[in-house]
Amino acid sequence: KSGFVSLIGRPNVGKSTLMNHLIGQKIAITSDKPQTTRNRIQTVYTDDRGQIVFLDTPGIHKSKNKLGDYMVNVAEHTLKEVDVILWLVEPTTYIGAGEQHIIEKLKQVKTPVILIINKIDTVEKNEILKFIDAYRKVLNFAEIIPVSALKDINTDEVLHVLFKYL
Ligand code: GDP
Ligand code: MG
Repeated sequence: KSGFVSLIGRPNVGKSTLMNHLIGQKIAITSDKPQTTRNRIQTVYTDDRGQIVFLDTPGIHKSKNKLGDYMVNVAEHTLKEVDVILWLVEPTTYIGAGEQHIIEKLKQVKTPVILIINKIDTVEKNEILKFIDAYRKVLNFAEIIPVSALKDINTDEVLHVLFKYL
């Protein structure tokens, strides 16, 4: 199996930390070099199940100028072309304007979206169900996976689920 996965989410939600833990298990290639103007290949993960190319997809936000518009168009185009979208969020039931904007974009694509609720080590277990319920209402996610990238809790499940959709 192989495929492309777009990793989206606000700065500081833990995208880099998650990547480090995923590839830490079995490292193949990591690259920060620009591959095309459209996508930045962040990481290529390989194991005996197959290969996953993770793409950094910046600019899923409201733009303020023409360059911003271009970046947003590029990012939105990427969302249509990948096999799976991974959306990382922090454990908060607050779904603000930034999240709403992403939700509207995600509604426009047929690509399966997996929601990763990261940093679950910072909240009580019973709180996690509230976050899942809050997010479940706003979009039809293929899967919702609570993890702690930092403490490496449930990160194996992310790979397991990704391979299911490739
Ligand atoms: P990015 O901007 O989305 O790439 O976020 P980073 O991976 O750089 O993480 C931002 C901050 O959140 C760093 O200080 C991380 O150590 C912290 N962080 C990431 N994942 C977790 C987590 O699961 N739990 C906790 N408590 N902190 C985390
Ligand atoms: Mg980062």
